[in-house]
Amino acid sequence: MDLDRLIQDRIRDIPDYPKPGVVFKDITPLLADHVAFAGVVDTIVNHHGRGTVDKIVGIEARGFILAAPVAYHFGAGFVPVRKKGKLPAATIEENYDLEYGTETIQMHTDAFAPGERVLIVDDVLATGGTAAAAAELVRRGGGQVAGISVLIELSFLHGRAKLGNLDVHSLVTV
Ligand code: IMP
Repeated sequence: MDLDRLIQDRIRDIPDYPKPGVVFKDITPLLADHVAFAGVVDTIVNHHGRGTVDKIVGIEARGFILAAPVAYHFGAGFVPVRKKGKLPAATIEENYDLEYGTETIQMHTDAFAPGERVLIVDDVLATGGTAAAAAELVRRGGGQVAGISVLIELSFLHGRAKLGNLDVHSLVTV
């Protein structure tokens, strides 16, 4: 099986999770397959090119799993963006709308040196609210957003429209 097919094959649909009517993309079979997992990491690194970014931002929680090996293979540092209340030092935060209610994500104020080039990594781009808020945190934290890489883009939710002219790279488009 070629790599693209293997990656698609290792993502499974879970109907009615976390609530009725939602089809959840579950990446745990992909993470458990070392060829598929390594292929995802290598594809992200090769798309941008080693040495093109200084820091990789991973978004809690599944984004961490992908972003940490990407950072290692890039030769870049890792910066966590977390749900409110989880980071220990001084933070900046962004709020964004969910279907019902709002969500808040935070990042340490000293995450970047001024002008550092930052790649944001997450598992799924859905409505784009999370990625747009993370990009805003990076800018407010003094970084330059070099791009956003996601494993899965749910294109029917038009998340790209929230991301302006940022370079959005997805491995699987649904
Ligand atoms: P958005 O803010 O609507 O783009 O949602 C993206 C965030 O929700 C990401 O951090 C994902 O981890 C999570 N997410 C949304 N849909 C799914 C899914 O089907 N599978 C896994 N995570 C999802």
